[in-house]
Amino acid sequence: MKKWVFLFVLFLLFAREVNEYKSDSDFQIIDERHGLRVPKESVTLEIAMDQVYQGNLLLVNKEHPVHRGGIKSDVVNLFQHKELIEGYGLLDERIRLSQGVAEKFLKMVRAAEKDNVRHFMISSGYRNEEEQSQIYQEKGSAFALPAGYSEHNLGLSLDIGSTLSGMNEAPEGRWLQKNASKYGFILRYPENKKAITGIEYEPWHFRYVGLPHSRIMQKKNFTLEEYLTYIKEKKKIGGTIAGVEYEVSYYPVSSKKTVKVQANAYEVSGDNMGGVIVTAFSSVHARDGQEK
Ligand SMILES: [Zn+2]
Repeated sequence: MKKWVFLFVLFLLFAREVNEYKSDSDFQIIDERHGLRVPKESVTLEIAMDQVYQGNLLLVNKEHPVHRGGIKSDVVNLFQHKELIEGYGLLDERIRLSQGVAEKFLKMVRAAEKDNVRHFMISSGYRNEEEQSQIYQEKGSAFALPAGYSEHNLGLSLDIGSTLSGMNEAPEGRWLQKNASKYGFILRYPENKKAITGIEYEPWHFRYVGLPHSRIMQKKNFTLEEYLTYIKEKKKIGGTIAGVEYEVSYYPVSSKKTVKVQANAYEVSGDNMGGVIVTAFSSVHARDGQEK
């Protein structure tokens, strides 16, 4: 009898292993490729200069401030949107965030719940310049950035806590380090990357960049700074995600530019430095989807 229980537990562990392996093998990076294999539609994009300063891939740091157009237009007060905060806590009633990002966060929290990780709390989201100034004065330059130079000013970043303990030890922190990239989020200031980001390790600060970018960054151990340099150098990278082909292309923009995209779905984001990144997908389902 006991032997059967033991074998059953072994089977469960094995099944779980296969599941995790499967989800990882569902993602691939092929560094250089030319065109999606199954493009169905052709679109000609007119890219204007202001698009360099808008989108989910904007680099904002000490050298690259937020441009007015870069602030997400869908920033909402989370406390007033009960449907967005089911299953996690808010540090206070003033916390704001891009609604789109909050929806992705909720999806991620629900996935964590299935792994029995359920004590998340958002302690900070969108901040206006005045609020950022105050934080900068309180925390100093190792942990904060001056007003206008923080990702929190975009509406794309959030500080995530656990009601159990500090994020470095909490199950919530460990779960996010392993899984956040599957939902479009990155740990923006990782350990041992201070020389690149200019900011100390912050196990609580997550940034939304979207798929497949977050997955590529995780796999290659890239910060946003490194990833954007990599795309700029390669000009075009591609692969598959959740059974859908993707292609990420970089274009420098100095004046109006025309770009031809062959894809069934695409997204455009500036890099906040003089270029835009066009992400093309072979299926419309990939754009907002996440990996299993
Ligand atoms: Zn933060």
